Amino acid sequence: MSSVWIRSLWVVAGIGIAGLIAWPIAGPVWALILVCFTLVLLLARHVLNLDALAGWLRDPLTKPVPQAGGVWEPVLAGLYGFVRTRLRWERQLEDDLARFRNAGLALPDGVVLLDANSHIEWCNPIASEYLGLDESRDLGQPLVNLVRHPDLAAYLAQGEYAEPLTLRLARTGGRVLSLAIISYGEEQKLLLASDITLAEKVETMRRDFVANVSHELKSPLTVVAGFLETLTDGDVKLDEERRLGYLQMMREHTRRMQRLVEDLLTLSALEGSQGLNDETLVDVSALLAGVRDEALALSAGRHRVELDIQDPVALLANAQELRSAFGNLAANAVHYTPAGGEIRLAWGRRGAQAVFSVRDTGPGIEPRHVPRLTERFYRVDHSRSRETGGTGLGLAIVKHVLTRHQAELEIDSEPGRGSCFSATFPARRVKSVADTTTVPQAGNTT
Ligand code: ADP
Repeated sequence: MSSVWIRSLWVVAGIGIAGLIAWPIAGPVWALILVCFTLVLLLARHVLNLDALAGWLRDPLTKPVPQAGGVWEPVLAGLYGFVRTRLRWERQLEDDLARFRNAGLALPDGVVLLDANSHIEWCNPIASEYLGLDESRDLGQPLVNLVRHPDLAAYLAQGEYAEPLTLRLARTGGRVLSLAIISYGEEQKLLLASDITLAEKVETMRRDFVANVSHELKSPLTVVAGFLETLTDGDVKLDEERRLGYLQMMREHTRRMQRLVEDLLTLSALEGSQGLNDETLVDVSALLAGVRDEALALSAGRHRVELDIQDPVALLANAQELRSAFGNLAANAVHYTPAGGEIRLAWGRRGAQAVFSVRDTGPGIEPRHVPRLTERFYRVDHSRSRETGGTGLGLAIVKHVLTRHQAELEIDSEPGRGSCFSATFPARRVKSVADTTTVPQAGNTT
């Protein structure tokens, strides 16, 4: 029997006993009046409790459960327990939701929750940024109305999300996104957006690079193959002079391919190694004497080449890489400066830093080309570069070497007024020449 029944029976028994006691004392009429009066009081108390309960039920989560004794006690205690459990659940649910929301906010990728009709239910700030959404305004809106791209509409409509979708969005500055959709619940979707702009750029660069290398190798290879065919064709009779001429051209084109492969290997070695190896204290003045001698040999008397050591400071550097970079800059000055011109190599301090510069009286470079000169295979004048046997990789190698030494390349050039390429090395690499232990030997540039 429940406690409500037991308590009710106790109350009824109490009233009955009170009536029975009153009967012999006050007579049956007064005993009946006493019983009726007690019952009315009891009824009034129940009505009051019911009213309090009805009032509480209108707002059960914020108002406290009404209190009453007697038969109401177990009922109200049960309700109180129920409300407490419910509030505990709600708090737990709120905490879980906040945790998931915070996890969504902390994700490095964009997250959008979509309902069965691809309407936005929630999105994190990264998704807002990537897709140009406004969380306060766009919730409940169809995603395709806000991100207007035919590919996205087709992707969402087809319902097959095994492969991610790559999207280039003009409205967010040409950002390239990879969108992946994961279905969950009742046809709901989780859209993950990651920014692959950089990866796409690298992939494009890789494709361009392969295309450029193939193109660079194709022309000399075609020439060599053509001459070989002529030379080995028994039907073609060649006099000795022409035969030697052909062989000479084949040698030139083979040299060009060799230079290209050598430069490619240098670039790949520079890119492949993390940080600088074999750092020593380099006597730059001695190293530059070798570079000047090579420039003179390359010029073959067509230019005046001067070396100006303003301060013979030493450099904490990789001697071989330094030689390759300085040699490339000097060789470019010789290649692009017409005969009779002047080339000046200088080394000295600028404040606490050290600067190497190559100034020439060549044709100069138009400003629009300057920012692109260190790109691989970028040439201002293709035919001139080919004539000089250039690979189009020299300045890319220079840039790499200088970056590895935390040095800056500066190009100061104006058409008709010559060029000055300078490399500025940070103070922490600049040392007194007295400390020098390694004097690099003259060797090949690049
Ligand atoms: P290349 O092998 O063609 O010389 P580089 O990377 O060394 O390749 O140079 C890129 C381009 O920069 C060259 O093709 C040339 O057009 C230009 N350039 C480099 N140095 C000079 C210079 N001293 N004077 C004029 N143009 C130069």
